Amino acid sequence: MEMYYRKKNCGRSKGYSDIILSDREIIDVLIPECERLAKQYSTKIETIGSGNCGSGISGFAIEQKGDIYPCIFGVSDKTQCMGNILSDSLDDVWFNSVKLDKFRKLDEGFGYLAASASEELMEYEAVDLVVTKISILSFIQYDSYVQTLAENVQANIDKFYQIRGLQNSIKFYENSIISIEGSSGCNARCTFCAYNEDVGHGWYGRNVTEAAKDIHYLYEVHNITRFAFSDNEFGGNLYECSYRAKILADHLNDIRDKISIALNIRSEVLDADSILNFSNAGVKTFLIGIESFNERTLKKIFGKLVDQAHLHKVIKECDKNNIKTVTSYILWHPWQTIESIKFELDKIEKFGRYRIPQFLTNSILKVMPGTPIELKIKRDNLLKKSFFHRSFEFQDNNTKVLYNLLKTWYEENVYPTLRQLNDENKGDIRQIAELKIKEFEWLKQQLI
Ligand code: SF4
Repeated sequence: MEMYYRKKNCGRSKGYSDIILSDREIIDVLIPECERLAKQYSTKIETIGSGNCGSGISGFAIEQKGDIYPCIFGVSDKTQCMGNILSDSLDDVWFNSVKLDKFRKLDEGFGYLAASASEELMEYEAVDLVVTKISILSFIQYDSYVQTLAENVQANIDKFYQIRGLQNSIKFYENSIISIEGSSGCNARCTFCAYNEDVGHGWYGRNVTEAAKDIHYLYEVHNITRFAFSDNEFGGNLYECSYRAKILADHLNDIRDKISIALNIRSEVLDADSILNFSNAGVKTFLIGIESFNERTLKKIFGKLVDQAHLHKVIKECDKNNIKTVTSYILWHPWQTIESIKFELDKIEKFGRYRIPQFLTNSILKVMPGTPIELKIKRDNLLKKSFFHRSFEFQDNNTKVLYNLLKTWYEENVYPTLRQLNDENKGDIRQIAELKIKEFEWLKQQLI
């Protein structure tokens, strides 16, 4: 079996980034050519997509002078050198290198989320090491070599995107929804959100022309019409977003009526021009995180800055341009009060209850390990912690009673019907809508 790894420029080739194959060249030329050669020589050729790191497991790197490194992304760092192919025994390096061994143990326990769950992860023997930048948490096993290595890899991952294993052998079905990557991370810092902690950086945009070409390619070659950007936040900031929307419109306007695109975006990065351009590119749905209409909750608890006047303008523009806005909402959180629930319900009604897809029973804060809100809940002694699971207690007893009543009402009046419904049956959507209206009315009645 032969393997193809995406190459990295080093030495004198650093100034010539165009000699590296682009995603399109890999898809259009390399993969078909590998398939042809594999057939001709009865062998197997694998192209490497994103996935677990293979260093120390399926490979290592040798630079031009023969120095051996765990990974191609480490070849510029002499501290990671494990020997030289011209003078050392490869068996010795492979089987006895402490550095490679540490690399082998690296793959599962990396980052802030792993740090928060490190007690369970280690007890469960899922990982040997947890690597993190949060050095103040004393329970984390810390290793400086792995730390340096992890940072080096992370810095390079930020720069080099890999294709997502798109192969001609993948079968697409009618109505398949294909995920496209347009960026990673987010410039906001919501206290409950784990996305930035997970990727280890803020917002980082992929070349949007490439993303638009991917969509065009999939439409032309595979007749795919439904796309969803997998990004946490597609826009970045107001200026980036306006540029990205324009590029999408330029590349996709000719097929805008044939495709539909959904994407996650913050209302703050949208304006009338970018909304028009998104519409011209075939965007039909925005997923926007509102989370609360209570300014205090947003600022003090969720760490989220939302300009409410701007949000309402954005929603109006979306309606005008036939872009559906689907919003996420967190009604139930540890510090919620009855007064604030009344306020929220009133605002939700004016805003349009139908824009919030879930039942309000389910609009409850999910506590993700490693997030700032987890620490805040812990500090207030409201954290409920079990093996690989976090949740919370309500601070206000009246809120707790109301939430439990709602849950019981939901279990008796909604859940039995939901169990009978089926995605395929269009009439069932109407039933869900009716149940959601009933839930809203029931909750309002309790507060009179
Ligand atoms: S705006 Fe969304 S993606 Fe960004 S930090 Fe907040 S919840 Fe996370």
